[in-house]
Amino acid sequence: MSNLSKNYIAGDWVAGPSSIANINPSDTNDIIGQYAQASSAQLDDALNSAQIAQRQWAATGLEQRQAVLMKIGEEMMARSAELGELLAREEGKPVAEGKGEVYRAGQFFTYYAAEVLRQSGDTADSVRPNIEVDVRREPMGTVAIISPWNFPTATASWKIAPALAFGNAVIWKPANLTPASAVALAEIISRQDIPKGLFNLVMGSGGSIGQALVESSKVHAISFTGSYDVGRQIASAAAQNLTKFQLELGSKNPLVVMDDADIDVAVAAATGGAFGSTGQKCTASSRLVVHQSIHDEFVERMTASTSALKVGHALEDGTQIGPAASAEQLTSNLDYMQLGRDEGCEVVCGGDALELATPGHYMQPALLIGGDNAMRLNREELFAPMACVIKVADYDEALSVANDTDFGLVSGIITQSLSKASHFRRNAESGCVMVNLPTAGTDYHVPFGGRKNSSFGPREQGQYAKELYTQVKTSYISSGNP
Ligand code: NAP
Ligand code: MG
Repeated sequence: MSNLSKNYIAGDWVAGPSSIANINPSDTNDIIGQYAQASSAQLDDALNSAQIAQRQWAATGLEQRQAVLMKIGEEMMARSAELGELLAREEGKPVAEGKGEVYRAGQFFTYYAAEVLRQSGDTADSVRPNIEVDVRREPMGTVAIISPWNFPTATASWKIAPALAFGNAVIWKPANLTPASAVALAEIISRQDIPKGLFNLVMGSGGSIGQALVESSKVHAISFTGSYDVGRQIASAAAQNLTKFQLELGSKNPLVVMDDADIDVAVAAATGGAFGSTGQKCTASSRLVVHQSIHDEFVERMTASTSALKVGHALEDGTQIGPAASAEQLTSNLDYMQLGRDEGCEVVCGGDALELATPGHYMQPALLIGGDNAMRLNREELFAPMACVIKVADYDEALSVANDTDFGLVSGIITQSLSKASHFRRNAESGCVMVNLPTAGTDYHVPFGGRKNSSFGPREQGQYAKELYTQVKTSYISSGNP
């Protein structure tokens, strides 16, 4: 087993007691490799070495920490074509998206490289004479990072970069569906001038190694992105140890299209937002909430744009929509198609599995109409290239449908009315709002996160990340004179 399929623990590449096959979802005959699964003893080694390494790292000069992060980011950006292709091969997103993701992941490292030097705190006079107060942030210690398969490099990077920048050690458990991109990122980090054990990659299933990691009392903070159900399990494990944690979970994002919308903007936003990344995005808009007076024109234009999308092998030129990431995901997508029909929607285009030149988990993107917001189809996260149009009478109904969900990651509105846009921005019950933009597509220097069942705990990204990765210390200093 080469290093390109091992775990990185306590500064060494180590094989595991077992391994799993990494299969290309665009061509299931293409086995990318076998990837080690860490044992619980190896997880313990990682946790013990992290504890020692973290103290060394926190004592390392700021410029050295900054340089390490900068080098990681620059290498990722320079190698984004190569690493993006690997990501596309194992996850199934079109290669241009894979490349874009790796480049963006690199930008998280260069951004947080700069944050290393943005040191600030508070000083104050005590209420008692001749005493000064110093308030500053310190690292948490060892951070457990658990990431999903849909943006395997970007999600992990927006957690690993701030964790290291703010002086922590990292134990990273990536999704087992996307181990190759995890090893590629770990390999870059392993070549940096950092203490042995500061950064550890522990691959394995969520139920075994992931669960053991979040239950460990040697972990001081947990950052998780994934499903709602697993998030709740992590929350209860963290609560047992009173470990600080943050969750980014599922969603059911609405895109509202008003009667005064620019129809070209609306169709482009809905098509990209619903079907980009095969709909496998936490920011995807699977609910299209459309004003009745623009409904028929919108549906006609959307049908044309959805049918024109080219589904294909992720590494082939011209592919716009790749396969579902796994056989299970495709089965779930097709089950939701059936549910939509059973609940009374009309399928205006797509929705069937596709057989292409290579065996893969392909599906034609689907547009459904006649939806109502009470349907399960419009309440559960689909993670599929599917969108359902919900017709509404006016703006008030649109806003109330948009907010009538257990989730609250992103809400979008397409309108040329400043007053509707402003009202929506203020009254949408979501962590992010998009005006005349797709629900998907966010920056890295500002906070990202949701409300309701979409998120829990501090925001990620930008300067807000320090809320999870640091803790505040208040010191009182007396001159010693009475
Ligand atoms: P998932 O099944 O919840 O898995 C996420 C991660 O958790 C994987 O690494 C998984 O490992 C691990 N895991 C599973 N059970 C665990 C346990 N008991 N203890 C600790 N870790 C455990 O989610 P997914 O299917 O990979 O990703 C899709 C979900 O992620 C969707 O709901 C999507 O909305 C959400 N997501 C949210 C955001 C956001 O920012 N809000 C961004 C992207 C994705 P294995 O997979 O190896 O078993
Ligand atoms: Mg999973």
